Amino acid sequence: MKRLTGKTAIVTGGASGIGEATVRLFVEHGAKVVIADIDEQLGQALAEELGEMTVFQYMDVSIEEDWTAAVTKAQTLGTYNVLVNNAAILHMSSIIDTSPEEYMRIIEVNQLGTFMGIRSAIEPMKAAGIGSIINVSSVDGLHSSAGLGAYSSSKWAVRGLTKSAAIELGQYGIRVNSVHPGGIYTKMGGADRTSEKDMNRTYYAKHPIPRVGQPLEIAYVSLFLATDEASYSTGSEFIADGGWLAGLRDPD
Ligand code: NAD
Repeated sequence: MKRLTGKTAIVTGGASGIGEATVRLFVEHGAKVVIADIDEQLGQALAEELGEMTVFQYMDVSIEEDWTAAVTKAQTLGTYNVLVNNAAILHMSSIIDTSPEEYMRIIEVNQLGTFMGIRSAIEPMKAAGIGSIINVSSVDGLHSSAGLGAYSSSKWAVRGLTKSAAIELGQYGIRVNSVHPGGIYTKMGGADRTSEKDMNRTYYAKHPIPRVGQPLEIAYVSLFLATDEASYSTGSEFIADGGWLAGLRDPD
């Protein structure tokens, strides 16, 4: 059964990782999708592979004009009614070793980018009378760790912004929710540095579900939120973290 027939989505950071899995799943369920990313090579290749249901749009989520272009592109595909604010960057460094410029770049992409995405979706989704905005935060938007001051600040902000937007936009039929992945096997999640087997043997061994997550396991959460099945969910947090926030099996 196709669950997204009649939906047209923008997925930022759609060229790889969780964004790519989201694009693939949305298309499988009948959505038209703008793959919006700074990685032209991967984004174009994915759009070519998936065919006429998708189009690639170069965009840096921290640039307002790029949002205007992405929304225009979505409107050429269909009625723009789903936004997945997924693109983000990670900076792992102690506060003392993080410069204000490095801090601000994280905020620009992860936080301001999400803000501008929501802002640019309001008028088209109001006109459509329906919309779902899915903001990908993190477990680090609910707790934090040493070395994640900048990233965690931005992900907490995404969660707060989600609630504000939900309160403002529910009356127009626009739902806004945040998704909170735990450790997922992507480039950001360390796939370029550590094998999945090593991760499962070490870091994830103590997690309630003792393995790293897969991008598709987050894409399925966004799929639910994008459908009309989620029609009474707004301003909420959807966690898929293998039980991480519940606690570790052997904290020592
Ligand atoms: P990834 O690094 O594998 O993919 C991110 C994608 O975003 C890439 O295609 C990249 O080119 C794109 N991107 C980066 N900066 C951009 C910009 N300025 N404008 C547009 N696109 C840009 O990351 P991922 O693991 O797939 O992460 C996706 C989302 O999930 C992020 O919001 C991330 O914070 C969140 N998340 C990931 C994990 C994890 O363990 N992987 C955990 C919690 C939350």
